[in-house]
Amino acid sequence: MARRSPALSPSRAGDFRQCPHLYRLRVVDKIPEPPSAAATLGTLVHAVLEHLYDKPAVERTEATASAMLEPQWRAMVERDPALGALHEDSHAEATWLAEGRGRLATYFTMENPQRLEPDGREEFVELQLPDGPLLRGFIDRVDVAPDGSIRIIDYKTGKTPLPQYGHKEKFQMRFYALLVERLRGRRPALLQLLFLKDGGTLVLRPSDDDLAQIEFEVRELWDEILGAARTGAFRPKKSKLCGWCSFQSLCPEFGGEAPALDPDAVERALGVRPVSA
Ligand code: SF4
Repeated sequence: MARRSPALSPSRAGDFRQCPHLYRLRVVDKIPEPPSAAATLGTLVHAVLEHLYDKPAVERTEATASAMLEPQWRAMVERDPALGALHEDSHAEATWLAEGRGRLATYFTMENPQRLEPDGREEFVELQLPDGPLLRGFIDRVDVAPDGSIRIIDYKTGKTPLPQYGHKEKFQMRFYALLVERLRGRRPALLQLLFLKDGGTLVLRPSDDDLAQIEFEVRELWDEILGAARTGAFRPKKSKLCGWCSFQSLCPEFGGEAPALDPDAVERALGVRPVSA
């Protein structure tokens, strides 16, 4: 399979901001991580909501979505048998699947999919910023109204963040808005995050300033990433998020040690070589 050019996505940007060492282990060393129940539930619910729109509008009911959940899960395990170890027993798996059905039930209180015909689902977007990074991502859903106005939808299986949080989610949506504006030639009028745990919605209307700011941020962040690649200094950044990090045994902050940095791996992942190599 052809190797993809080094690029920045909203999730990798979030990784580097959270902790450059975590970013290195994930992006450069590509250390495998055990699947988490929460992230896998997100993947599963996203897959159901994506494929729900394959069906004729009249069939897009909560009962249909709920019935799609388990077969979709079995298909995921077939593709990636490691996911089978996610649950201790069938009771734990059934409880987890019931959580997934709960998220789908909440979705139907927020939107009526029988009235929507998405223009894009899981849309792959990629944009080369002049003299800057290649930006890349997948957008959960793009809707286009009869007057051509664009709405970007993102599903979150967690709950609505408190007003003082949610920076990561807003960054992600403005990142996508920048790509869609450049790729489709029209700025999205609305960016909507749907939080399926509690039914909350976050709505953004991107302005000139928002998109100029996001472009500045991604350029600055990419420069920081390339700086870390050139010096080989991907420093650990301890925070309360370390509790969810699966790399503690490879992290100096927790008495662990990372494998020696492989200059070839840095170059493959980021397109530059550490200066000492
Ligand atoms: S444990 Fe914390 S400091 Fe260490 S790699 Fe993970 S996020 Fe970074």
